[in-house]
Amino acid sequence: MLEERSAGAILYRESPAGKLYLLLNYPSGHWDFVKGNIEKGETLKQTVLREIREETGITDVSFIDGFEDRVQYHYQRDGSIVHKEVVFFLAKTSTEHVELSHEHQGFIWLKFNDALAKLTYKTAQNLMKKVSELGFST
Ligand code: ATP
Repeated sequence: MLEERSAGAILYRESPAGKLYLLLNYPSGHWDFVKGNIEKGETLKQTVLREIREETGITDVSFIDGFEDRVQYHYQRDGSIVHKEVVFFLAKTSTEHVELSHEHQGFIWLKFNDALAKLTYKTAQNLMKKVSELGFST
């Protein structure tokens, strides 16, 4: 089976309305967190910082200690089944402006419950629920 490894972040910013979480609209239609494939020689956090920069233009990012979790799924690519594992961190930015790359067709900053409802996949929703266990949701 083909194996794929990515890393990403549940990225949020503080607003007058409370914490807002960033979701991206992927070309295949789903809404998910910012993430991308790990390149050779990169640490997971280096991947995340690079992917955030490339996919959103955001460069001020700080990781929140104590959160690291993974999501696994299978999908079909060119007739083969791919097993994919994505490691996620929790990270904060002060930047509101998002400059999307060609890799996505939309973005949205949402409050915790709205983001939870917008996420397409259960695995991503379950990951996000773990953030609330840290007392981080609002
Ligand atoms: P990356 O951001 O890591 O470069 P990508 O854009 O190449 O990723 P994915 O977002 O992993 O690709 O999507 C690849 C396929 O897997 C799509 O068909 C998508 O619908 C499906 N997929 C994505 N996330 C999940 C998930 N959490 N559970 C099940 N299927 C998923």
